[in-house]
Amino acid sequence: MPLIVAIDGPSGSGKSSTSRGVAQRLGLRYVDTGAMYRAMSWWMLENDVDIDDAEAIADVCERPRIRLEIDPLDPRVFVDGRDVSAAIREDAVASAVSKVAAVPQVRTRLVRQQREIVSRCLADDVGVVMEGRDIGSVVLPDADLKVYLTADPQARAERRARERQSGGDASYDVSSAAANLADRDRRDTTRAASPLQAPDDAVHIDGTHLSLDDVIGEVVSHLARESQ
Ligand code: C5P
Repeated sequence: MPLIVAIDGPSGSGKSSTSRGVAQRLGLRYVDTGAMYRAMSWWMLENDVDIDDAEAIADVCERPRIRLEIDPLDPRVFVDGRDVSAAIREDAVASAVSKVAAVPQVRTRLVRQQREIVSRCLADDVGVVMEGRDIGSVVLPDADLKVYLTADPQARAERRARERQSGGDASYDVSSAAANLADRDRRDTTRAASPLQAPDDAVHIDGTHLSLDDVIGEVVSHLARESQ
């Protein structure tokens, strides 16, 4: 049977790099569910939907056509045919996304789409690494391995600032990153609908003092043990 791996954790914990690395190493597809919530938020902003009005968001959240390309070497996200992979990383989206993601109708729609992606992979006989906040707890409760990846807030803010700076945003410093992460952590862990939480049966990895290769290696060795 193709492998299904769920990787959850807070923003900046290294989930994306880890998930892509594991998928590459094991020949699996890579699904970034955060990109789907960001794409939904991007569409709301483009269409002047009031981000503070949950009812307005719920009314229109079936409209955007969101499509993912799930090759771990070049993951991409499209909204209504437009490649928004870069646009969804901008500040306006980062500030809006936790509010949009707290709307239950948005979650219902995207969870449905996430499960459809996995079903198609399984039909093609290929496994998946899916990363997010509720993958092990809600989206894929029967995953072969559930990982909960954390890191110290300072390490997470430093990582996020480095990513943004290497993406060309020289003015994005560690304190801006720390403020955005703290705000999203608070919203993501306290919302009523599927708050970020570690599933009971997840393997916990603290990446604060580990290299990316070490974290990928830990996940791969847990998988090897599980499949024995
Ligand atoms: O992973 P990333 O930081 O790109 O996710 C952006 C936001 O999308 C998170 O802060 C969270 O609000 C939301 N999200 C979610 N559930 C997921 C993935 C992301 O609520 N499975």
